[in-house]
Amino acid sequence: MLKVDICIVGAGPGGALLAYLLAKKNISVVLIERTNKIGKTFRGEHLNETGEAILKKYNLFDEVEKLGLLRMEKLEYWQQGELYKTILPDPQVGHLGIHVPQAHLLQVLIDAAEKYSTFHLMLNTKVDELLQDENGIFTGVKALNNGEQIIIESELVIGADGRFSTVRKKADLDVTIRKHGYDLLWARIPAPDSWEPSIKMALVGDKQISLFTQAKGYIQIGWNIEEGSFPTLRKQPFTPFIEQLILAFPELEQTVRENIQSWQDFVLLDVYSSTSENWGKKGVALIGDAVHTMTPTGAFGLNSALKDADYLASLIDKNTITQLNIADCASVRKKEVAKIQAIQVEKEQSFASQFVVMV
Ligand SMILES: Cc1cc2nc3c(=O)[nH]c(=O)nc-3n(C[C@H](O)[C@H](O)[C@H](O)COP(=O)(O)OP(=O)(O)OC[C@H]3O[C@@H](n4cnc5c(N)ncnc54)[C@H](O)[C@@H]3O)c2cc1C
Repeated sequence: MLKVDICIVGAGPGGALLAYLLAKKNISVVLIERTNKIGKTFRGEHLNETGEAILKKYNLFDEVEKLGLLRMEKLEYWQQGELYKTILPDPQVGHLGIHVPQAHLLQVLIDAAEKYSTFHLMLNTKVDELLQDENGIFTGVKALNNGEQIIIESELVIGADGRFSTVRKKADLDVTIRKHGYDLLWARIPAPDSWEPSIKMALVGDKQISLFTQAKGYIQIGWNIEEGSFPTLRKQPFTPFIEQLILAFPELEQTVRENIQSWQDFVLLDVYSSTSENWGKKGVALIGDAVHTMTPTGAFGLNSALKDADYLASLIDKNTITQLNIADCASVRKKEVAKIQAIQVEKEQSFASQFVVMV
């Protein structure tokens, strides 16, 4: 049994940043992660200006840069194998997004937190129940640590445990799910030598394909497909499907042929977004994907999780933890999340209009 001021469930970007910011305030924090290594969970890796500004505010950006990151220098629209339109960054910003390998980001956040004796990380520990007192106030968690049941008591439990949040379910907090009409196939391939740091988009049929250059010489491919269509699609011949990618980006022919040879070389993401009316109850609060899952469009989710963590940390003080009114956080953050989710829908619906109609 362990007793701390605050127990944070989930060592993703939101949970790790929050743990660091609270430990720095002399608040004892345990950060619980179900996997046995940070950065194992599949997640987005493009930082926008919001995430960049937060890391710079706490002098963490340079540390991440030392480990490796890559600034996107242009956004290109391609049509039928030809470059059609290029968008360059605002000179004041200097990029159109930054690829940060999640292992680098999380390592920097955890290293920063570990400088404080108030911080404690527990890997291989899966939270499966919440503790409540006789007044219904949440007072900690039950978890399986290396197969053994443990109890952690805390004044506040924070669910930073992602889109399938156990904390949200166990606290019986509402969630409304919205489908967006598409799912996403992901694949990662080595970039050709001459490939420049860029985001490239194409319309194939009426579906979006996006290529994101990654640090260390890779390209992440995101290919929108009809919602729920993958089981049927994968019964069809693979070659005609992948030829469409090669036609859209001829420069990728060799690397695509060498690295994407069957349906198994794609990972399927079930795309949806979610909102929750309530961001917490007495003794429990949610941040990040646990309380507002984003679609991958525009690369906002990771950045929003960092913003939630930064804002929530500003509301918490060592002597007033139990007085935290999560509605104060929710009322500010919900407005911004709603705006971003509306932008995502708008971008999804207007994507095809970026291209001229070829006859
Ligand atoms: C394919 C894809 C591409 C994306 N691209 C981008 C992008 O480029 N830019 C961007 O900003 N966003 C992107 N996103 C969204 C982004 O990945 C998420 O919004 C972000 O990771 C949310 O951070 P989080 O800290 O809230 O939760 P998560 O990153 O989901 O982390 C939650 C953590 O909680 C742990 N956990 C879960 N349950 C338990 C439990 N019961 N006990 C203990 N630990 C638990 C998990 O193992 C995980 O480590 C993308 C998402 C996907 C799926």
